[in-house]
Amino acid sequence: MNSNKIRILVVEDALEIQRLLRSAFEGEDFEVQESDSLAQALSRAATFHPDLIVLDLGLPDGDGLAFIDQFRTWSQAPILILSARMNEADKITALDRGADDYLSKPFSIGELLARLRVQLRRGSKTDTGTSPRLEFGDVMIDFVQRVVTKSGKILNITPTEYRLLTALTRFPGKMMTQSALMKEVWGPHFKDSTHYLRIYVGHLRHKLENDPSQPKHFITETGVGYRFVK
Ligand code: CA
Repeated sequence: MNSNKIRILVVEDALEIQRLLRSAFEGEDFEVQESDSLAQALSRAATFHPDLIVLDLGLPDGDGLAFIDQFRTWSQAPILILSARMNEADKITALDRGADDYLSKPFSIGELLARLRVQLRRGSKTDTGTSPRLEFGDVMIDFVQRVVTKSGKILNITPTEYRLLTALTRFPGKMMTQSALMKEVWGPHFKDSTHYLRIYVGHLRHKLENDPSQPKHFITETGVGYRFVK
């Protein structure tokens, strides 16, 4: 793998579009890999470390939106949706779930390349954090397998705890407000029920901190929110 080249992962089941994109991207000297299913896309993203993803929503084994949810637990690399779904609600949903841009099929290669350049310029300014694993203390999170270990032992983490954990660890060092965390983990209708948040942060500390009463990784910012420190 030539690490100097920009890597693009194309998640698309239509072979003629795969071929069209491959020739256009190779013409720009990008390195390209394809995945034609949702199941394959995540493991490919984990091993290929793409700088950008072109994602079709209508995949044979599911909806591309599910890919965004999981990929965003470990990477902020830009995702450009390429889909036959054209209505505004679909676009808004995809952007709200973490996509960066949306182009409807049929599309022009010229416009696709222009939008891709915009995303790559933005992406190069931030750390895209393409590692599907996070380690802190003796804890390791594998975002692809959705497994959390402490001292090598697999922990029993509930789906809600896992959502909170990925929301907290996405931006190490950055303060996350209570309402942002509530909205992400429980949805917009629960944003004022911050006692849930306290309880679940307590669960995470109990499972992940060496001394839950003196947390080193899941820090309370009194009255405001929480900060994850590696
Ligand atoms: Ca398709």
